[in-house]
Amino acid sequence: MSEMDQRYVVGGDLGGTRFRAVLANGRGEVVRRADTLTRAAEGLEAVVNRMATTIESLFSEMGDGLDRARVRAVGLAAPGPLDPWRGIVYSPPNLPGWGDVPLARLMGERLGLPVFLGNDANLAALAEHRFGAGVGADHLVYITVSTGVGGGVIADGKLLLGSGGGAGEIGHMTIERDGPRCGCGNRGCLEALASGTAIARRAVSLLATGAPSRIREVVAGNLSRVTAEVVVQAAAAGDALAGQIIRDAGTALGVGVANVMHLYDPQIIVIGGGVVNAGALLFDPMHAEIERRALAAFRERTRITTPALGDACGVLGAVALALALASGAQ
Ligand SMILES: [Zn+2]
Repeated sequence: MSEMDQRYVVGGDLGGTRFRAVLANGRGEVVRRADTLTRAAEGLEAVVNRMATTIESLFSEMGDGLDRARVRAVGLAAPGPLDPWRGIVYSPPNLPGWGDVPLARLMGERLGLPVFLGNDANLAALAEHRFGAGVGADHLVYITVSTGVGGGVIADGKLLLGSGGGAGEIGHMTIERDGPRCGCGNRGCLEALASGTAIARRAVSLLATGAPSRIREVVAGNLSRVTAEVVVQAAAAGDALAGQIIRDAGTALGVGVANVMHLYDPQIIVIGGGVVNAGALLFDPMHAEIERRALAAFRERTRITTPALGDACGVLGAVALALALASGAQ
């Protein structure tokens, strides 16, 4: 075994609901996993304690010749925005009341290990590049279309961070100059047009005007129960209103993807997140729009695909970050 194979790193993924952690070897292979509920409402100190205890449980189980001294670093994926260099999370939207948290320092003090922090969508891009759909591609863009829209860019084999750690915020790219208001304050962002939240909101506002749709029966008339999933199911069952909403979301996504192609000239664009469960209902109009907007040469050399890593992309991205930073590569 090389020296690389004998060291270990921890990857952690802090979500609004769960904190997942894994112990991985120098090749990024997961050898142990643990998870816990985040319980953000209990406050910062309780959450940090629970994260540290969960990570320590990975070490205490290290029998069979593994020992804690061989763990080199901890990578953590957290919802953005954040400062990856100073390890500070800025008021994470799914962890209400946190404010600005020096998470890397707090965890580092608890664990006695170097802790590196990354935006979850950025680290998902890194994970797909190192271990997933983008292995062998030095130019990759990852887009997640879920509650919000996030992204990450790998350029020349490296995660692009930008000047403030915010590079790859594809969700706030303007698609429609006078489009619907986004949570960020701008109008017509990709997130305001194609995210799960946007899809549900549009369905509710059209249903409220009395537009005919079977969505109304599915939620038994209670519009607060309309989710993107409900709209996708109705679209799949042939509902015209739901079909139009998903088509429009796919078209908006296609405009965004064409922009991304021209900006980064990637070999591969990986599109993940819950909304992609809509499949062809979303992707057919997306591809049609890319066809209309992207230069042929870009279209021909960019492969568009879905993620290979699923749910594990956050922790595996954190593993990739820890491996890269522990060896001083990035
Ligand atoms: Zn926005």
